Amino acid sequence: MSKLTILVVEDEPSIAEVVGLYLQRAGYQVRTATDGKIAMTALENELPDLVILDLMLPEIDGLSLTRWLRERSDVPIIMLTARREEIDRIAGLEMGADDYVVKPFSPQELVSRVRAVMRRLKRASSQDGQAPASTERPLTYSELVIDAPSRTVTVSGKDIPLTAKEFDMLYLLAQHPKQVYTREQLLDRVWGGAEYIDPGTVTVHIRRVREKIEADPSKPVRLVTVWGVGYKFEP
Ligand code: CA
Repeated sequence: MSKLTILVVEDEPSIAEVVGLYLQRAGYQVRTATDGKIAMTALENELPDLVILDLMLPEIDGLSLTRWLRERSDVPIIMLTARREEIDRIAGLEMGADDYVVKPFSPQELVSRVRAVMRRLKRASSQDGQAPASTERPLTYSELVIDAPSRTVTVSGKDIPLTAKEFDMLYLLAQHPKQVYTREQLLDRVWGGAEYIDPGTVTVHIRRVREKIEADPSKPVRLVTVWGVGYKFEP
């Protein structure tokens, strides 16, 4: 199982550095972004497992970034806020941030909060823990319904039997509609990044899932190929 990745969005280098150090020591892989714009680009490229987000940021502020991110993903967000930013903190929580710490904070406290959020996520995740189920409600895209807790998929009310990996892959893609995943990213997320697995495995799984859920598997409208890049789910 590969390390969980955390994106730290913080414009104050000293804070970013200390936070990064503590998280790395706690066993996480850390990436950093020094302003909102850089963070957006990083998040568009690849979603981390958790985001630590300073609210006061240059370019794009933390609240706008939270709103933007929540339109795309359920990735957990822990906000870093100053004591005077109570209104922003509440707004952030209402927008779907998962937790916050108030500056100045001890890095150890932040690590504890991260662990707590990750634990909640793990409890809510599927049996093998590969596809985090961040919502209890089924994902519904007109005829297609994907229910994470029961790991069932229906098309127009008809049960579609999927293997564990087929389900995990479809669920990951459908959780992040329109986000393009490379075959390497899918291997990493669904197969746990096992180097010995042929990237062709992803192609095969995509084809099988298409045969099961697409009206015309030769002209897929759900699992769409992005030529030269990878695959995405069309809502
Ligand atoms: Ca700041």
